[in-house]
Amino acid sequence: MEIACNVTRQVPLIAELVNLATTHWRGGVSVQPPAGEDLATAFAAHLGDRTGAALRADPDAGRHLGELATRLRQALLAERPQDQAARINAMIRRYGAQPYLTEDVGQPFHLHFHGSGGTQAEAMGGEFATALALVVDGYGPDRFGECEAHHCEAVYIDLTRNGSRRYCSAACTARAKTAAYRSRRHT
Ligand SMILES: [Zn+2]
Repeated sequence: MEIACNVTRQVPLIAELVNLATTHWRGGVSVQPPAGEDLATAFAAHLGDRTGAALRADPDAGRHLGELATRLRQALLAERPQDQAARINAMIRRYGAQPYLTEDVGQPFHLHFHGSGGTQAEAMGGEFATALALVVDGYGPDRFGECEAHHCEAVYIDLTRNGSRRYCSAACTARAKTAAYRSRRHT
């Protein structure tokens, strides 16, 4: 399977943004999702220095990120493939994603899809929306889901070969296994 390597770099960031901004339970723990500046600061910690600094410098970044996270979650968890495609297409249009080749330090030219809104958060909106479109194109519509472990609302994006992922993290996979083992012993 050929998929742009930039997409595989965006995928964990997409999941992290959605899980930071939209979950009240994560990995079995009750969490208060950050908003506004707190969200921008928390998400910037997952980005490179330059991108993170650009994000923190924008006073509106937290609001934009919160809106983006909500849209991404709705697209990821849409029940029907046609709704999912419509939501991803709407994000691509909204953020004005533009494909362009760029050469980062020490890397060959590769394709980015920044949005054209002018802020870092909007640039990421275009990038993330296009990355989801490329995942659907390359892997099909069933590669997104909500963690099935108890008390976890985190989403996952499954780029494994067989598409068998059901949990957001190794920790939730282990929790779910333990819970299944306990319930078998008690029946
Ligand atoms: Zn989980």
